Amino acid sequence: MAHRPRKQFGQHWLRSETALAQIVAAAALTPTDRVLEIGPGTGILTKRLLPLVQALVAVEIDRDLCELLRRQFGRVEHFLLLQGDFLSLDLSTLLADFPAFQSPQKVVANIPYNITGPILEKLLGTIARPNPQPYERLVLLVQKEVAERLCAQPDSKAFGALSVRVQYLAHCQWICDVPAHAFQPPPKVDSAVVRLQPRLFDPPAVNPSHLNTLVQLGFATRRKMLRNNLKSLIDRELLTAILQDLNLNPQVRAEDLSVAQWVALSNRISPQLSLTGEQEP
Ligand code: SAH
Repeated sequence: MAHRPRKQFGQHWLRSETALAQIVAAAALTPTDRVLEIGPGTGILTKRLLPLVQALVAVEIDRDLCELLRRQFGRVEHFLLLQGDFLSLDLSTLLADFPAFQSPQKVVANIPYNITGPILEKLLGTIARPNPQPYERLVLLVQKEVAERLCAQPDSKAFGALSVRVQYLAHCQWICDVPAHAFQPPPKVDSAVVRLQPRLFDPPAVNPSHLNTLVQLGFATRRKMLRNNLKSLIDRELLTAILQDLNLNPQVRAEDLSVAQWVALSNRISPQLSLTGEQEP
């Protein structure tokens, strides 16, 4: 049965052997790994993952594709297919009936680009509420522009709120570029494979939701100086003194600060806010 790619589900089949091999290598799979694949599609990546892992659970939203996948892999005992929207299903409850597939350690996926942000949030959690059962690693094929933001270093164009939010939760590495023509049909944008390894940031933010607010406000107007973007939160003079104390130029902009500096800034500002009696947003 031929399946016509559906736009609304972001269906673009990866057909590059090189890219598939790079994804698999980046996952560094071992025979005891339990893996989660989001959006297996026609199963091109699934087929390569199955021989290398102990258990593979795949979540696919498209019913027709699920039928195809069942025909292809239905007899493979260490494969479990869940039909549904990854964003709305509760994986741990669903897997409660399948002990062999519980708590996958790794995620390997060519995800639908239109829901990249929500997928990342579901996998990693947020600064204020990190995933309490973090995955060991995520290997994801994403839009190149997103990959650039995830892996960006301070003082670069791609470094933004997303970079700080995700890098606070995980170590992000660029694996490889994947050109649009590696897919059928080719998407409008180029892609890249990234590897994210969740870990606790050290030292952590004492008040994570404050860090979250700070980053949001700080990047609201990129070109503005931080002390202007944060003026609703903290007095400019006080912030200037804190920045100097942290060995930062009082004229810094949000994109100049590394994740560690964001954390340091948040840890310095939070107690000041409670001292002056300001409300936590
Ligand atoms: N992994 C395949 C297909 C990638 S395309 C390959 O590399 O060829 C993205 C896949 O995600 C499609 O199969 C699409 O149907 C599926 N998908 C889209 N939205 C989804 C969602 N919310 N939950 C689960 N799967 C989804």
